[in-house]
Amino acid sequence: MRVAFPHMGSAPIALEGLLRVLGAEVVLPPKPTREITELGARLAPEMMCVPFKLTLGNMFRCLEAGADVLAYVSGSWSCRFGYYGRLQAQILRDEGFQFRLLELRHDRIPGIVREVLRLNRGRMSSAVLNSVRAFRIGWLKSTAVEEIESRFREALPNARDARGCCRLVDTLIQEVRTTSKPAALTRIRDTARARFDALPRNGRTRVLRVKLVGESFCVIEPFINFDIIARMGEMGVLVEPSLTSHRWIGFHGFRLNKGEVGRMRRLSAPYWRYCVGGEDQNSVGHLLLAAQRRFDGVIHVHPFGCMPGTVVQPTMAKAARDNNISYLPLSLDEHSSETGVVTRLEAFASLIEKRRRRHVV
Ligand code: SF4
Repeated sequence: MRVAFPHMGSAPIALEGLLRVLGAEVVLPPKPTREITELGARLAPEMMCVPFKLTLGNMFRCLEAGADVLAYVSGSWSCRFGYYGRLQAQILRDEGFQFRLLELRHDRIPGIVREVLRLNRGRMSSAVLNSVRAFRIGWLKSTAVEEIESRFREALPNARDARGCCRLVDTLIQEVRTTSKPAALTRIRDTARARFDALPRNGRTRVLRVKLVGESFCVIEPFINFDIIARMGEMGVLVEPSLTSHRWIGFHGFRLNKGEVGRMRRLSAPYWRYCVGGEDQNSVGHLLLAAQRRFDGVIHVHPFGCMPGTVVQPTMAKAARDNNISYLPLSLDEHSSETGVVTRLEAFASLIEKRRRRHVV
């Protein structure tokens, strides 16, 4: 069995580890590029959102590389994300590829168990044992990456050598990728803070803080959002995302953290009464939470053509005005220009810097 899954942020690191321990051969999805986005855009219906196009191009390349099973987190939700797997499978079959579609959803558990048993030649005891080991390794890798990325976000605005800080995050992520030993993964996770703390600092005394909210894929995947976290970090702005790959797997994949959903619902209620799909309600809630926590601004990213992201935007702008927090909406698609986005980020950084100075003086 040669399994592939769509690329999103750093999620492939944990998923690859988990699937290998389960006994599957993994066809790693290629990192997103403009060429892959264009390939997906050519195959997809024109008005589909850019995450669909990018992951479609991604899966096309995986099938060319020999994948015979495509795995998707899937479901019947208000947002079309839940149908990505089935729609993409149809398009890819029309292109002549043959493969099995593995939908990771709660009402398909028997099918998932059958696949795990097949990987273990039908032996239940080794299937159970390998599943426990696989989830442990997947969890350790995912939490290690979460810790590394979180320390990186904090360190970058204060780092004297931004490139050195970016090199360190790449090195640590590579260490996580190449080991499957629990003790090594725990050590990498537990020493990440000290390794970032050891970097020379630039002496900056005030770091501006911005919350990054919006559609999951656009928040998590640096290729789509033009690496907002690193770019703004280099401008001296700490960007805290509402979702990371690790949190997405727990939050959306396994539907954990119901408390946070409830909290966002309560916070957003004066502005947004119910979720119309995607991350609309969570985005309003996180914006209001950021205002309460005295962040300097909120950046709201969503794909062009994303219904929930588009309809919630005027409400987000009003909530930001009412709560006196700077707000930058960014609509992204395969035609977005890097220069245009970076110029707006620079202008936003300068605006929040001036606002902070006005309030401090
Ligand atoms: S939230 Fe928007 S962009 Fe994301 S899958 Fe749904 S419609 Fe597409």
